[in-house]
Amino acid sequence: MTDKLVNGVKQAESSSKSGDDGENGACLICGDKATGKHYGASSCDGCKGFFRRSVRKNHVYACRFQRACVINKDKRNQCRYCRLRKCFSGRHEEGSCSK
Ligand SMILES: [Zn+2]
Ligand SMILES: [Zn+2]
Repeated sequence: MTDKLVNGVKQAESSSKSGDDGENGACLICGDKATGKHYGASSCDGCKGFFRRSVRKNHVYACRFQRACVINKDKRNQCRYCRLRKCFSGRHEEGSCSK
């Protein structure tokens, strides 16, 4: 019998967003703990690396859904298109130092 539980992990959507997440706050992209400001937006190491790799290699991703995927700590690897889109929308117009 297969239940629809993925690895038995329950989504903890409401538990971790309370504001005292340390000095750097939460990653703008996935909500994980941010390690600082990268490319103009607070982000975690995972997203920082992902973003940098994507930009540098000019990766083009495709979304399998409606380009509106939920990106959070657990699901951030499921859709790279939407993750990268979030990276871009998070940093606004601070592209001055990224060239
Ligand atoms: Zn992140
Ligand atoms: Zn997507």
